[in-house]
Order: sequence, then structure tokens, then C-alpha cells
Amino acid sequence: MLVQQFLKKDGLYNDALDGLVGKNTLKGLAAINAIDSGWSVNRKINGAIQFYAKKNGLEIGPIDGWWRPDTEDAFNQLSHLLDIGTMPNPWRPEDIEDVNPNNWPRQYTPEFDAFYGAPGENLVTINFPYPMKLSWEPYSKVTRTSCHTKVKESLERVLVKVKDTYGLDTIRELRLDRFGGCYNKRRVRGGTKWSMHSWAIALDFDHTRNKLDWGRDRAVFAKPEYIPWWEIWEEEGWLSLGRQRNFDWMHVQAAKL
Ligand SMILES: [Zn+2]
Repeated sequence: MLVQQFLKKDGLYNDALDGLVGKNTLKGLAAINAIDSGWSVNRKINGAIQFYAKKNGLEIGPIDGWWRPDTEDAFNQLSHLLDIGTMPNPWRPEDIEDVNPNNWPRQYTPEFDAFYGAPGENLVTINFPYPMKLSWEPYSKVTRTSCHTKVKESLERVLVKVKDTYGLDTIRELRLDRFGGCYNKRRVRGGTKWSMHSWAIALDFDHTRNKLDWGRDRAVFAKPEYIPWWEIWEEEGWLSLGRQRNFDWMHVQAAKL
């Protein structure tokens, strides 16, 4: 269907957009020189995705009809182009502006210890500007949490801005209200260091759809509709491990790497 839409734009296909590879779709594909006439139908479709990716300025390897990770990525970007009319924002760490208005320290450094003190101390309560639920208990209601006193005001600004930007309905729909916890004095999984949660300077959200070891191909928080969410955090200097390291997309922290 995506390929049919692009063929149609090029005047190579005038039939229904039905996603079925019929005679006319094959005729359109045959008009693209980069696609080998000896390929299987599947390979031709993949080749067309690669061809239109290249044509639209996406970085893509050879047009060979194989479904590679970059082909899948191109498919997603081209879908976005057709749906929204623009390419999604590029999603590479180097494109994330490294602002730090609150001077969050780098994790596991002496500056960090000096800034935040010992784990589990300096805790205060913050009231959420919109109601949350525990992400493992969708019928629960959470109105506040403990956090480190030094992150409190920034956290409030972030959540108020999330509320203003998305509104309550979209917050619910995108599950920005599925709170997975803040303060939790524990070691990092599989390690001996304290987790950032031990200082109550990290929060998790919607952990069932953003599992620890999931990358952007599976984590829901990697989708384009969450870009404003992340940008709101990043404007305050908070760091997303998903955005920076492509794992633990549920997590955001007030410390740099
Ligand atoms: Zn976390």
C-alpha cells in the first residue's frame, strides 16, 4: 500500500490502493530501473521501499530488495511522510541539544555526590499536576511521590508543561500517567552501583511497553508522538537513557552520563 501510494505519486500506478500486488502494481514496479525484473514479488516491494527512501533523501544502503534494519527504518519514515506530510524528526543522540539549566551533575562522580548527598536523603514530596496510576496497577491512583529536594521544582515544571502540551486526554491515551516509581534505594540491575532511583532523581513510566532491554523498534516511548514529551524533559536537562543509549526507554533522570 505504501509502495502503491508512492507509485501513484509518480504516475506509475492508477489502480486502487488496496495493498495487493496485482498486475498493475507489478507494472509500476517494472518501471523502476533499480528493481531487478528477476526478483521475487517481495523483493521487488522491498526494493521499491529502498528506492523511494533514497529518492526522499534517506540514508539507505544498496537497493537490493532485502529487508534490512535500514529498510524497516525507511519504511517507518516513509509512512510518517505519507501520514503527516513530513519526515519524522531525526532521532540520533547527537541531535539532542545538551542543555543543562539546572546543572545536573554527571552520574557516579564526586560532583554528583557533592550535589545530591547520600542516597535516600533529602527527600521531599511532590504533588503531581495531573493524576497518575501505578504502571503495574492501572486502576490505582497516585497523586504524589517522593523525590530529591533538588529536583522538585524542575520536576514540577516538566509535569506542568507536559499537562499543558498534551492535555489530560492525550496524557491518558499515550500513557504518560503510568507512573513506574521514583524513589527506590536499590542497586542497578546486574551491578553493584546504586541506581539513580536511590537518590530519587529518576522516574520510570509505562514500564510494560518500554521494557529495560527494548530498543526503539519496540519501545513505545521511541515513537514520534513522544518527541515533545522528551523535549520537555531535555529542556530542563533531564536525560533519557532511551534517547541517549536506546535502552530503558521507561526511565528519565536528573543526571548526565
Ligand atoms: Zn528507572
